[in-house]
Formats: sequence, structure tokens, C-alpha cells
Amino acid sequence: MSRYTGSVCKQCRTEREKLFLKGERCNTNCTLERKRGKNAPGQHGARKGKMSDYGKHLREKQKARRVFGLSEQQFRRYFDVADKMPGMTGDNLLKLLELRLDNTVFKLGLAFSRKMARQLVMHGNVTVNGKKVDVPRYQVKAGDVITVKEKYKTNANLVKLMEHPAAVPSWLEFDKTTVAGKVKNEPSVEEFSHPINSQLIVELYSK
Ligand code: SF4
Repeated sequence: MSRYTGSVCKQCRTEREKLFLKGERCNTNCTLERKRGKNAPGQHGARKGKMSDYGKHLREKQKARRVFGLSEQQFRRYFDVADKMPGMTGDNLLKLLELRLDNTVFKLGLAFSRKMARQLVMHGNVTVNGKKVDVPRYQVKAGDVITVKEKYKTNANLVKLMEHPAAVPSWLEFDKTTVAGKVKNEPSVEEFSHPINSQLIVELYSK
């Protein structure tokens, strides 16, 4: 399964929107905010004219996929699961993405970015309810307690992060002294990571 390995900033330039793929670092020195970065990458980056209806739908899906760092197949699988769940497919899709373990680790402030959170999980440094979970797609649920292994608590990156812990969204809580976070409840639509029009994604896949 192929995963994008190029420049992360290029993805924001393609979408012409800050996707915050580098986490906190995106608040300073963002490529997109500099003149050169305003166009999409490539020879024909300076796109002219109005975007087609299909283009709008496609870009919204690509944006969501890039924010969560998923391949096309992985994203499609999430959509298929969301479509079978009761309720609104678009909301279900974003909820499933939000409740991924790597996203939760990032939201708890245990990593600078989702990419770093994914590595943290894959390297076996994260525990859920006291058990190691090394699968970034693991779905957390209300009541789950997420922390890092004891040996990781002295890691330089984590120590730096803990100097100024990030504000966590209201569906999570975090205790700096124990470096442990808890899922209080499932996130509501208003609390999703990034403004994504999930209806456009639903319409794209329903065409
Ligand atoms: Fe995107 Fe962050 Fe790069 Fe800006 S600095 S272009 S928000 S990844």
C-alpha cells in the first residue's frame, strides 16, 4: 500500500490550504504563507479559472485524506464502514478518523504532528488501558486511557512537549503529571480536527 513520502508542504500547496501537517511548526514559517508557496506545485501550479463541481468534491476528499495521512484505499475503507453505520455517513466518517489512535495521541499533545504520533504508536511506545497498542488505526473509545511507556517518558521530544502541554479538545482530558490522557466521550461534529465538508466526500463516492 503506497503512502505519500514527498514534501508535506507540497500537499498543502496542492490543496491551497493550510492542513497543519507539521503540527505546531505550521504556526510559524509556513510555506503557504510565503509568496512562492501560494501556487500549487509544478509547472502548471498557477491554476486559472473556476474549479469544476467534480474538482471541488475531489479536493475535499483529498484534503481529508491528507490531514489524516491515509492512502486512497485506507480512506475508501473508512468510507465503506461509515456508510454501513447508522446515522449520517459524513459525520460517521469524520468520527472514525478522529478516533484513530494516532490522531488521539496527536490531539493529546504527545507528538508534534500526526506523522510523529503514527511513528510513536508503530514503535510500540503507546499503551491503551495499560496494554501496548502498535496499530495507528486502532479505534479508541470513551473511557480509554492512553499514555506512553515508562521508558519513553524521558524522550527529549516528549519532555519538550510537556514543557507547554497543548490544549486538548473537550472530548479528551490530559494529566501532565502522569502523562496520561483519557477519552471522555466521542467527539461531536464541531470538535473535528479540521474543517472538512464531509457531504462533498459522500457525494463524490456516491456518483
Ligand atoms: Fe502545510 Fe504546515 Fe507546511 Fe504550512 S508549514 S504548508 S501548514 S505543512
